[in-house]
Amino acid sequence: MCGIVGFVGSEQAAPILLDGLARLEYRGYDSAGVAVVSEQHELQVRKAKGRLQALSDAIHGGADLKGCIGMGHTRWATHGAPSEVNSHPHVSAGGKFAVIHNGIIENYVEIKEFLISQGVRFKSETDTEVVAQLLEFYYHECHDFFEAVGRVLRRIEGAYALGMLCADCPDRIIAARKDAPLLLGYGDGCTFLASDATAIIRHTRDVAYMEDGEVAVLTADGIRVYNALSQPVEKEHHRIDWEVSAAEKGGYQHFMLKEIMEQPEALRRAIFPRIRDGKIALGGMKLTNAQIRDFSRIFIVACGSSYHVGMIGKYNLEHLLHRSVEVCLASEFRYSDPIVDEHTLVIVISQSGETLDTMAALREAKKRGAYILSIVNVVGSSIARESDDVLYTWAGPEIAVATTKAYSTQLAVLDMIGLYFGEVLGTVDPAEYGEVVAELQKLPEKMEALLGRCDDIPKYAAEYFNHNSVFFIGRNLDYALGLEGSLKLKEISYIHSEAYASGELKHGTISLIEDGTLVIALGTYAPLFDKAMSNVVEVKARGADVLALTTESHAKEMAKTVENVLTIPDTARLLLPSLGVVPLQLFSYYVALQRGCDIDKPRNLAKSVTVE
Ligand code: GLU
Repeated sequence: MCGIVGFVGSEQAAPILLDGLARLEYRGYDSAGVAVVSEQHELQVRKAKGRLQALSDAIHGGADLKGCIGMGHTRWATHGAPSEVNSHPHVSAGGKFAVIHNGIIENYVEIKEFLISQGVRFKSETDTEVVAQLLEFYYHECHDFFEAVGRVLRRIEGAYALGMLCADCPDRIIAARKDAPLLLGYGDGCTFLASDATAIIRHTRDVAYMEDGEVAVLTADGIRVYNALSQPVEKEHHRIDWEVSAAEKGGYQHFMLKEIMEQPEALRRAIFPRIRDGKIALGGMKLTNAQIRDFSRIFIVACGSSYHVGMIGKYNLEHLLHRSVEVCLASEFRYSDPIVDEHTLVIVISQSGETLDTMAALREAKKRGAYILSIVNVVGSSIARESDDVLYTWAGPEIAVATTKAYSTQLAVLDMIGLYFGEVLGTVDPAEYGEVVAELQKLPEKMEALLGRCDDIPKYAAEYFNHNSVFFIGRNLDYALGLEGSLKLKEISYIHSEAYASGELKHGTISLIEDGTLVIALGTYAPLFDKAMSNVVEVKARGADVLALTTESHAKEMAKTVENVLTIPDTARLLLPSLGVVPLQLFSYYVALQRGCDIDKPRNLAKSVTVE
């Protein structure tokens, strides 16, 4: 999820690694580390929490670690707080292997228990350490680095970009990839490994992208790549012609677009480790079933886009739990004398885990005896620490101020909470439970397909970018989705925009509709599609210019009334907003682009709102 860089050659590795890590700093990270193989074939590992400068100072810019092969890592914690011991590289108990990893090993608990039963002692709380320990365990059996890697890869599940060093094979790094980016760089008498081209672009622009299931053996002479069946594969070389600033954004013009595109990957990380044998498994959550049954009241408390996630959560959780769920803006909740006691669950949502209003609301709820379950992206953040329970979104660092992948993963986690609680309470229909779980697993793939066919959005953006007032209308989940679509548009394009529950049109808003007013009509929610259509007809009759969003199965029907229709794949109805948000994010992005706005840093806004 964060940064990987590796080097094998005849120059000193450590300064190259530090420089590569420095180029990955823009991604955000919480700790850093390097491993360099000495001439005596020892693994020299140094790590530091916090800024990369601390690591660099500790090893005098790399001068302390002599050796021409090594790897470095910047960590964005997912399992275990940011700390020196949890940072990478992780070294096996016998000291033979060092491992760096981006991603999540989903079955690490089971592997860790197995290894502990075999007498292996663990140092960190991370999922990654199992890879280092397992490598050593298998190496004792087969005495072959490559074979041990193969055995490890067959045993672990999850997402990974891995770099591995073995003290007995001091001339090579072995790398492996599944569902996490990793590329290989070809230099003159040297080779590179990187999670992101930015890390190595100073040394080479000749790269090959690793595919899922591939394993690469990097030596100074070259790189051999094998598929999952250990058969050699020829890699196609690519020449990076971007400049560093573009490379940072993975070739995209803005972080926001990059992060929109990263959503399928982020969803995989948020969802897949939490589904086991067709059941939601919220590993690490301390809440007992008895506690879940005891709650008489549920609040969802958040700000901004996280509040919009809560709005969708209200519909979905009430449906799944047959309990009333109140969604509150944190800034209101904290001063509202809320009815909260020991039988109250407060679900707190925050990307950064530092949002001041949300934190204050959390403390207020806690004071009144509530149980706090938070949904947070940043591991070890203040909200995560002060909550009774935390479920991380594992979206990876989000840099654009306007949230996209954090929103999507928060939503997925909240839906999973709903399913999990619904099963405990016996309120969820088993057939629906099965359907939603299955669709959750398909969500990343469906989103990928959707992202691949959104090419008409720039066209609509070009058509509508000069409107100065926009209305989003929808009912139920589409209303909640509209709130987010509208916020996205106004925050980055500065167009005045409002989201209305369609039924409210006749109570005031419709008087604002005149010839050419842009109305974005959301009609994805199948149970109320006919009602959505009536509202479309209503606004069209007043001269509105309508851009509609619906599902593939309703596209034809919608197209009878509306010319401009965006579609999303069909899915379980609870999950429709998870797909519906994508075209709205892209629409906002392209409108802002047309208007020449500073998309990643909209005026007056900050990424993490730590003031009241
Ligand atoms: N899951 C790993 C950890 O928490 C890797 C995190 C990352 O991708 O930086 O240590």
